[in-house]
Amino acid sequence: MTNSYHKMKIKTSLTLRYLVLTAILVIGVFVILEELLYPEDGYDMLSILNVRLLAVWLISFVALLSISYYMARIVLKPVTRIIRQVDKITASNLSERLEIENKNDEIGELAMTFNDTLDRLEKSFKAQEMFLSNVSHELRTPMSALIAELELSLHKDRSNEDYKMVVERALNDARNIERLSNGIMDLAKTEIQEDRISKSIIRLDEILLDAITIITKANKDYNIDLQFDEDSDDDTFVTIKGNEYLIRTAFVNLLENGCKFSPDHKSSVIITFRQSKVAISFEDSGIGISPTDIEKIFEPFYRGKNGDTYKGNGIGLALVDRIVRLHSGTIHVDSKEGKGTTFTLEFNHI
Ligand code: ADP
Repeated sequence: MTNSYHKMKIKTSLTLRYLVLTAILVIGVFVILEELLYPEDGYDMLSILNVRLLAVWLISFVALLSISYYMARIVLKPVTRIIRQVDKITASNLSERLEIENKNDEIGELAMTFNDTLDRLEKSFKAQEMFLSNVSHELRTPMSALIAELELSLHKDRSNEDYKMVVERALNDARNIERLSNGIMDLAKTEIQEDRISKSIIRLDEILLDAITIITKANKDYNIDLQFDEDSDDDTFVTIKGNEYLIRTAFVNLLENGCKFSPDHKSSVIITFRQSKVAISFEDSGIGISPTDIEKIFEPFYRGKNGDTYKGNGIGLALVDRIVRLHSGTIHVDSKEGKGTTFTLEFNHI
């Protein structure tokens, strides 16, 4: 209803425009010709008192109206076709695209731009769907395990030892759920625009030390070595403008992975200064990542084939990647299966 009303409105306004334009043109040509051909006969083209002339004017007006309407229809035809196609596209069939008849005219360009927008929308819709189904899957598994465990323990009376074991396992599942929901919350935080996260002047070496303490406290067998590539008295080399919480989260994830995916649970961090940049390399001599996995490890919930035997949920690196991008930094990974992995982050220091 509204669409056909709008189409009608556009058609009428175009018709009127063409009518005015053609009328001005025709009258102009008539008047000029008349003046040139019969300068002295006193025959006044604009006199409406002349009945014969009035008839000619009326016929011309109807002819002009028809021509203008016809021209408006021709011009609007491809637009109407596009409107009809766009009308059919909804959230449930975002894979539909507009037909492009001529890539070189304005209508073709409009259709191509619209198709590009649809590409982006479809991609983001799919990513959101995938994210939601991953979240619910990841949450459901430890939740179901937790409930089953507790239900089973209530079936009959058990010894204190048995109850202790059940509580320990339940606590472990609850911790996994907590880790996962924290990861999801952090991921959601990084979704916000760069200019909306609060940033302050922070020292990367201090945050690294914090992160190392967090990891080694939680995992007594993890060992992390912090090195500076060269000595410098200038603190600005390790100082950036950033969000302390997010940067620490990124460091914790990289350090934890380094130790987790290494049989000796050892990793090292090296800070290097370059002209306007500071680089932090997280190195381990662990199991490494296969070339096919490397392309996908930054996708949310992706776990490499090497991840099967190690605990995790595939959120860590997606989070690191977003945090680095929010700080206009870069991330580079270099890995050899069986030899080890190095993740290098680079930021502009102040
Ligand atoms: P998670 O560690 O929970 O599996 P991440 O997002 O942190 O999830 O990592 C994604 C995948 O990248 C891991 O499953 C693993 O296959 C691979 N990976 C990340 N860091 C390393 C590393 N230091 N060594 C080997 N593989 C790694």
